Amino acid sequence: MASSLAPRIGRAAVYERHRPETTALYEVVSDNLDTLYAAIDDGALDVRIPKHAKKELDAFLDCGLLCRGFARLWCAGCNESRLVAFSCKGRGFCPSCMGRRMCATSANLIDHVLPEVALRQWVLTFPFAWRRRLAKDGALFADLTRLFVETVQSFYAKREARRGAKTGSITALQRTSSDLRLNPHLHALFLDGAYHEAGGELAWVELPHLRTREVGDILEHALRRMDKHLRRRGLLDVATANDADADHGAADAEDALAASAVSGQTPPAGPQWTRGLPPAPASALSFDKPLCVSLDGFTLHAATRAGSHDLAGREALLRYALRPPLATDRLETRPDGLVRITLKRAYADGTLAVDLDPLSLICRLATSVPPPRYHTVKYAGVLAPASPWRARVAPKPAEPEKAEPEGEPKRGRGGSTYRPWAELLMRTFGIDVLECPKCKGRMKLIAMVTERSSIRPFLTGVGELVDVPERSPSRGPPYWKSVVMRRKATGDAE
Ligand SMILES: [Zn+2]
Ligand SMILES: [Zn+2]
Repeated sequence: MASSLAPRIGRAAVYERHRPETTALYEVVSDNLDTLYAAIDDGALDVRIPKHAKKELDAFLDCGLLCRGFARLWCAGCNESRLVAFSCKGRGFCPSCMGRRMCATSANLIDHVLPEVALRQWVLTFPFAWRRRLAKDGALFADLTRLFVETVQSFYAKREARRGAKTGSITALQRTSSDLRLNPHLHALFLDGAYHEAGGELAWVELPHLRTREVGDILEHALRRMDKHLRRRGLLDVATANDADADHGAADAEDALAASAVSGQTPPAGPQWTRGLPPAPASALSFDKPLCVSLDGFTLHAATRAGSHDLAGREALLRYALRPPLATDRLETRPDGLVRITLKRAYADGTLAVDLDPLSLICRLATSVPPPRYHTVKYAGVLAPASPWRARVAPKPAEPEKAEPEGEPKRGRGGSTYRPWAELLMRTFGIDVLECPKCKGRMKLIAMVTERSSIRPFLTGVGELVDVPERSPSRGPPYWKSVVMRRKATGDAE
């Protein structure tokens, strides 16, 4: 069996710093953030950006900039040195931070948590009317997630039909659609079968065949349980009302922003103009019509699966479920001043891209940031942290002698799940950040440079940006040079 620690691509490339300040996303946020804030302060937009989202938008503009501080790597062999910038560790939309976290989590799950059995993805989406509430009420969303996951778990246990049979799952709570509209939904990855005790060992039985009718039964059953839960808590108005205890004013203005981000049609998070484009290349994952059902505005898709021997497929599924909402290459600025988001997969109506005002894009980014204490990944069944079966189904550690690349410091085998980013880059892109560009020796971390007075001389010496790029100042009323604001001011409905 090939060790999953081995790099996926042959020869390592030399690390080139990605320059976040040159991406379209950075430019759009930097050019428009202060205009959006000013339009809100001015009362021209009656919404409010939540504090946690403001913090993350500001931090994003510093992410990956050497002039905000860096780590210094040095090669003892030839005295070459290299600087690596700090990141914002965003939880909402930063493509590089969330991309890195996606790689770390899926690598860790494959190596240390997931048994080598088939994996099936169950995607549950909620009706439009529920989305605003689920996006802000982490506790309610967690409850509904648990009810759904338990329903699928008991289906697997029943199909296996042995007493005490159990499956396990990892559920990613995603907040947006691929056009960044607010759309809290679930990607539940289930071990596609169940374990049972057999003579002191855990035996695995794969689910033989899943029928579309069964997917429909599961959805119906889950909805009944959710309905009961909402009735018990007096929340049947989940679709329409604000929480009774919310203080009005601030909460209303945050709700107005979320409502606009759900529909994507009204300012400030909309409108959006849909575009049909030449078909994009097919993605690695695709959904077939069988095993997809819908009911009362809910949809459940269970057609995507990766087999037990398909390591690449299982890792791709994990990454798909854990992916950031926006990859930098899906965003571009247009000559007409709008920004275009290319969809990962065409919508059923043939839409392949949407164009929107830069201010609308930032509003959507703001709503993509989860509130504090809002969990985004949940483990259940045999994969739950407290499950006594978790360790018994986990993959056995690889043979130590072939796991470490030559010249690397030995990593502890003591259950630590931290993965140095250098190893992650290597694993993901075949980029070896610790390889010396001159002599191909191994570089070492020698300093973290965070003081402005020390940052400057270093960067001047290597011809890097010394100052943080300035944000564009706020544009002014009445239209703020924004298509959306002009329409709003003139009542133009075109
Ligand atoms: Zn970041
Ligand atoms: Zn060197």
